[in-house]
Amino acid sequence: MIIAIDGPAAAGKGTLARRLAAHFGLAYLDTGAVYRAVARRLLDAGAVPTDEAAALAAARTVTADDLHDPRLRDEAVGRATSVVSALPAVRAALLDFQRRFAARPPGGEPGAVLDGRDIGTVVCPDATIKIFLTADPVERARRRAKELRERGLDTIDSRVLRDIRERDARDSSRATAPLVPAADAHVIDTTQLDADAAFAAALAYIATREI
Ligand code: C5P
Repeated sequence: MIIAIDGPAAAGKGTLARRLAAHFGLAYLDTGAVYRAVARRLLDAGAVPTDEAAALAAARTVTADDLHDPRLRDEAVGRATSVVSALPAVRAALLDFQRRFAARPPGGEPGAVLDGRDIGTVVCPDATIKIFLTADPVERARRRAKELRERGLDTIDSRVLRDIRERDARDSSRATAPLVPAADAHVIDTTQLDADAAFAAALAYIATREI
């Protein structure tokens, strides 16, 4: 069983994906963290995110151990990530990593939940369930700013909103694997839903799929 959760930044993908994974006993892969780990490696090496050769080298050497660094959540890393992730060579290098995880979850689970931007369209086009989670950008910026403040970071709401809009535009307009719902994805708008309501909506949809 493979569940693909796609959508823009701060729509609630990670929270929903984690809960679905726990509920169904599946492995969970945050593919944004995989791309973020590549950007983090680049920034650490003093390279710019548009340096394709350095980005490709970083993508080829990324491992599961790189995914738990708390610095991956920094906004600067998020911005660099959406530049790095537009490079086709980087996407190709990370495709294998993601597909291997989905096909053979490292903990031996009977399937996986993957969240990202192109899981239902490119990484796992045959996923059992595809959900596209979205929300109004102003609401997403409010959530992201709250999350950053809870981590003790000084945050300006208007700046977070600007970053989210820029990231949405870059992720949606890139030539390779742009952010779009798969034709067979079920869209859930979480603007008015809290985490419990989004989880309930996803479970209700999955129940209709007779799996
Ligand atoms: O989901 P998250 O905000 O952690 O993703 C960071 C960035 O990684 C996104 O803005 C996007 O550019 C990129 N990404 C991607 N494809 C994925 C997951 C993330 O291009 N499957």
